[in-house]
Amino acid sequence: MKIDPGVAAYCEGVLPDLKERFAKIDEIAEYNQLKVIKAMQDNRVNADCFHYASGYGYDDVGRDTLEKVYASLFKTEDALVRPLIACGTHALSTALFGNLRPGDELLSPVGKPYDTLASVIGIKEAKGSLAEYGISYRQVDLKADGSFDYEGIKAAITKKTKLVTIQRSKGYQTRPTLSVARIGELIAFIKGIREDVICMVDNCYGEFVEKTEPSEVGADMVVGSLIKNPGGGLAPIGGYICGRADCVENAAYRLTTPGLGKEVGASLDVMRSFYQGLFFAPTVVASALKGAIFAANIYEKLGFSVVPNGSEERYDIIQAVTLENKERVIAFCRGIQAAAPVDAYVTPEPWPMPGYDCDVIMAAGAFIQGSSIELSADGPIKEPYNVYFQGGLTWAHSKLGIISSLDHLVKAGLVTL
Ligand SMILES: *Cc1c(COP(=O)(O)O)cnc(C)c1O
Repeated sequence: MKIDPGVAAYCEGVLPDLKERFAKIDEIAEYNQLKVIKAMQDNRVNADCFHYASGYGYDDVGRDTLEKVYASLFKTEDALVRPLIACGTHALSTALFGNLRPGDELLSPVGKPYDTLASVIGIKEAKGSLAEYGISYRQVDLKADGSFDYEGIKAAITKKTKLVTIQRSKGYQTRPTLSVARIGELIAFIKGIREDVICMVDNCYGEFVEKTEPSEVGADMVVGSLIKNPGGGLAPIGGYICGRADCVENAAYRLTTPGLGKEVGASLDVMRSFYQGLFFAPTVVASALKGAIFAANIYEKLGFSVVPNGSEERYDIIQAVTLENKERVIAFCRGIQAAAPVDAYVTPEPWPMPGYDCDVIMAAGAFIQGSSIELSADGPIKEPYNVYFQGGLTWAHSKLGIISSLDHLVKAGLVTL
């Protein structure tokens, strides 16, 4: 692959110190693998579950059994797991619109939510937003040190507060990602003020990183995308909402129609990939985590600022590296692209993108378009020249991608070892 042997050796050099951490990641993956198998066994998954279902989708056995599997896995009363859910934003939007009514208020006690939710909530003016339906929004930012502003949260919970949204992953912000334990503390605090407030967790990028999920520490709903962690790289589309039966039912009426809810929505021929992807997900997440930690340690050793840093605990799969100039961001992304199994011959270029206020360069050579559980990177071309990357279906591929990124930087004369 024409990788400079010096670069490869430099990267290999960080691995001995990571042995213990990788062993811990493998141990979590093993635990979660057993959890998935147990949920499939307990719900009697069988070959009929993989059959094609068309039309209305009444009594779609594969779909209904998969929802039971998700409910067992997340330890919730019910689940909605559908190819009709287009993406993570759609899953979150469905959960919100399904459970909020005019006059209600939505609260985010962990600061600004993921960018795409700005239009859903109406923080950014948008047609069809919650704001247009008379649903108000309040936000309490985290304190400067990343801790919860308990006083601010207490003051923000009023009679109108119906639903609290808690984003587990930092996404592409600089705040810390929340551990399941911290989410549990926050939910306990909120329920202590008003027990009837619905607590929803945006679980994107967090699934299977720990042994427990937020639904085990009091969340009424956990919501995510199947082209991230739980799809295991095989699900070609989809999202999930797991939680309290009444919350899931409300979301289902929003996804399809009032009255029909979960009863309709044929699964077509995606069920095998949903089951098999879920089966692979714990080890896929482990691979992505190892890649992120590997990269953090290499780039940290080279003197770059990395978030999270090389040694801290991980609660999601995203890694940011501050590369300090445009040329490095471009070279890094080209290195990731060059290591992909698909589209490796393509040279990514920075380009204007909808929703961004600057050019962005994106690297992805994925089997599923846009899948960010597969090794992928993007760099907004602006200060401080961060590159964000995540994923890797196998550790060997993740590792190759990181080595290739450094190889491109070194060959372009932008980094010296
Ligand atoms: C990816 C993501 C979303 C949105 O998911 P899409 O599938 O891109 O619509 C929402 N929240 C978080 C934290 C995410 O990482």
